[in-house]
Amino acid sequence: MANVAFIGLGNMGGPMAINLVKAGHQVTVFDLSAEACQQLRDAGAAVAASAAEAATGVDYVLSMLPAGKHVAGIYLGDDGLLAQLDKATTVLDCSTIDAATARQVGEAAAAAGIGFMDSPVSGGVAAAAAGTLAFMCGGSAETFEKAQLILQDMGKNIFHAGPAGAGQVAKGCNNMLLAIHMIGSCEALEMGARNGLDPKVLSQIMLASSGRNWSLEVYNPYPGVMETAPASNDYKPGFMVDLMAKDLGLALEIAQLSDFDNPMGQLASELYRQHQEAGNGQRDFSSILEKLQG
Ligand code: NAD
Repeated sequence: MANVAFIGLGNMGGPMAINLVKAGHQVTVFDLSAEACQQLRDAGAAVAASAAEAATGVDYVLSMLPAGKHVAGIYLGDDGLLAQLDKATTVLDCSTIDAATARQVGEAAAAAGIGFMDSPVSGGVAAAAAGTLAFMCGGSAETFEKAQLILQDMGKNIFHAGPAGAGQVAKGCNNMLLAIHMIGSCEALEMGARNGLDPKVLSQIMLASSGRNWSLEVYNPYPGVMETAPASNDYKPGFMVDLMAKDLGLALEIAQLSDFDNPMGQLASELYRQHQEAGNGQRDFSSILEKLQG
């Protein structure tokens, strides 16, 4: 079992850290929110007064923070963790952030002789609690081997995507595709409904045909078709429009940085941005159906 520091105990980080405690690791946590820290104390973790205190003398530092600026703030600079950590420490940032910052932190870690891996996740709060997240990792083969010992206690599928930053690129590609097939599924279902088809029957037809995709298979966006989907529960998330809009923004940045024109990703981003601005940020991302319904 390992000594682990966990920084960022929000909707995702909280349950992930609890799973590490349950797996028998010595976990020391830090979050700006005293309430979040208390929940982890109740679950059996030690609470530190700062990120630096939590990370002192540990085998692994994990972070699950909102955005690139928070990750850069924790790790970089003279006061950052990379300037203080023991060289034997492995750093795993599980946040969804821009690939450029992930690469920058990866380079700074390499210069300091510390193993770093960007390890963003697929799967929401339910998967974090169930320990069934998918991790997409960017870093060296050696760091990936060490990372697996910890990530396996929080997730089911752990992929090595490439060097530092590659995890964020993989996440950007996946979520851009998710947005595109969700919007496409909504469009097809609504077009069928307007022409007299039952969305349930049309879903069965497309699931048995070449239109089959994850949105139709496990997350049908049409109310009443799939009892367990957010669409049948007033679009309670699930995966919020705010998070999809954030992830599409990151995907567009990746495309721009690589001088790649991604018209479908750009359109998906624009549609989700408009849907978000119309007051739907906290609703499930499959509620984009309502935007298409007009
Ligand atoms: P959240 O806002 O619930 O939690 C973020 C936590 O970080 C908060 O508790 C906050 O207090 C803490 N924090 C911020 N700055 C800090 C600092 N400097 N030091 C210590 N703690 C700090 O967010 P979340 O939903 O848990 O998401 C975390 C990350 O996971 C994001 O990058 C998000 O995009 C990604 N993600 C979220 C989901 C989801 O369904 N919520 C799914 C996949 C990926």
